[in-house]
Amino acid sequence: MISVLACLTGTRHPDTWHSTNPAEQAEARAVCQACPARVACRTRILAAEAGLPALDRAGIHAGLDPEERAALDPTIPTAPVRQLKGCGTEAAQRRHQRKGETCDRCHVGTKAVAA
Ligand code: SF4
Repeated sequence: MISVLACLTGTRHPDTWHSTNPAEQAEARAVCQACPARVACRTRILAAEAGLPALDRAGIHAGLDPEERAALDPTIPTAPVRQLKGCGTEAAQRRHQRKGETCDRCHVGTKAVAA
């Protein structure tokens, strides 16, 4: 059970956790880092927001912003890989690799070329 919520019992205004000001967001994150309820808070917010895109999430919770929480959500599929001109070639596969992408079409295409 969450007994101490630092965002509600501390000296900072609760709006700090919903501020767009980077300095206030950093303050909120710092309070969350030291909050004894952080683990339970993270579990609760990830469950409550399951499946929501980052744009539909708001505020700092458990020290995480909406984009960071969405990235941790296993129910959100990863973005489709952009198809490049020439996908299926080694040059396109190298471009995907530079961007940290995995392209099935390039993978299959270059395996066929390499075979
Ligand atoms: S971890 Fe959760 S409960 Fe604790 S201060 Fe941050 S938002 Fe509030």
